[in-house]
Amino acid sequence: MSRPPRPPAANSRRQGASPAARPSAAVGATGASLHPRNRHQGHYDFDALLAQSPALAAHLISTPYGERSIDFSQPAAVRALNAALLRLQYGIAHWQIPEGYLCPPVPGRADYLHGLADLLASDNEGVIPRGDQVRALDIGVGANCIYPLIGHAEYGWRFVGTEIDLQAIAIAQQIVDANPGLAAAIELRAQTLRGQVFASVLKAGERFDLSLCNPPFHASAEEAARGSQRKWRNLGKPIGKRAATPLNFGGQSNELWCTGGEASFLRRMINESAPLANSICWFTSLVAKSEHLPALRKQLQKVGASEVRELSMAQGNKQSRFLAWTFLDASLRRVWRAQREAI
Ligand code: SAH
Repeated sequence: MSRPPRPPAANSRRQGASPAARPSAAVGATGASLHPRNRHQGHYDFDALLAQSPALAAHLISTPYGERSIDFSQPAAVRALNAALLRLQYGIAHWQIPEGYLCPPVPGRADYLHGLADLLASDNEGVIPRGDQVRALDIGVGANCIYPLIGHAEYGWRFVGTEIDLQAIAIAQQIVDANPGLAAAIELRAQTLRGQVFASVLKAGERFDLSLCNPPFHASAEEAARGSQRKWRNLGKPIGKRAATPLNFGGQSNELWCTGGEASFLRRMINESAPLANSICWFTSLVAKSEHLPALRKQLQKVGASEVRELSMAQGNKQSRFLAWTFLDASLRRVWRAQREAI
């Protein structure tokens, strides 16, 4: 067994070809607490990972502590580790994304799902509602399809994933199709109106117990490129040809930025959520920059949210969080729950 990398920091959510965690020195550090139900506590069990995914062997390295690990600056190694983790921990036998697409740090992504399960449990006498009557809407599912994969495996929830990038959606669909049983649980929908979050992807009368989102982070392509170069430099890698051609670009530039960055994306999401008060019980999103929170809370008050919660996730030495809001008070949420159970 070897220690896993420090769980991903909030700003390492934007991984494409760049590393999913700090390499070498940090590889040996377990980092701060993941959610207690997170399957990635403590040490990666490389014996078990290799038994399930022999292809990972090609990417193994030995750390300065003499432990087995992978080189997190190598996208192919991170992809192989992710494929092995998804297979071992979540029974996802086939997971493949092309080079250049966002390669998610699995432990951190799983934490958001566990936090969401706790949120739903708080309306359900402390019991996590499981099974396919629970419906979740993932805004920006990405090529990696990570939240539906983990959420369905952990809790049996059904997902609709939306995406503006048609190539990403095609890759996510390949993952769904390659794994028996997923097609009934995960539906992917293209968001054809780039500036919209919920509009046009919801069908009439459709209801979701929650929405989730890992929003585009940077405000411009240039900012995203600078972010990539900074990460590369932090890894002690020369800013050579690879970094000058921004690492995270190509097919997945949408993944990294949107006009106005995270704050503007979340503003749009909040504005669009109010008219959907009775269609989605809990709206949620990751918020990478805590300085955005006061303005977001103010806006939520303005649009009439009846409850707003901020749920923190400690990941490595970074504090991350997701914001959750609902327009339904506790008694309306009891009605919602009864209707779900009646399905
Ligand atoms: N959920 C994945 C991908 C997050 S990156 C993960 O956590 O790894 C953000 C994704 O949102 C990108 O794939 C981007 O193409 C998509 N996106 C951006 N604007 C969107 C919109 N308005 N509606 C749906 N998806 C959007």
